Amino acid sequence: MSHDEPMSLADKLYRTRYEPDPAHPHIQVDPEQLRAAATRKLLKICPAEVYTPDPNNPSNVQVSHENCLECGTCRHAAADEGVQWKFPDGGKGVKYRYG
Ligand code: SF4
Repeated sequence: MSHDEPMSLADKLYRTRYEPDPAHPHIQVDPEQLRAAATRKLLKICPAEVYTPDPNNPSNVQVSHENCLECGTCRHAAADEGVQWKFPDGGKGVKYRYG
């Protein structure tokens, strides 16, 4: 990759490492509250594309916890869409390898 080319999201996410905690997911979405939301901001605001439509049922979302950068955007901007977000337990979550 040339230094003049913009980095893809996948390249940017590759620069992070995530320590998963499957027994205690740090993001939960209330599907009923999300379905009732008119704008479904969740699908647009996350810089890491953690929230994507479920291909089998587009009214639901899939949550890729392992891509979360812990920026907190969804916690504040989409709390009215049923997002419950907290920092992962100690030692878990995102690790920034480069800067
Ligand atoms: S905290 Fe940031 S990166 Fe993580 S899911 Fe929310 S918006 Fe996406």
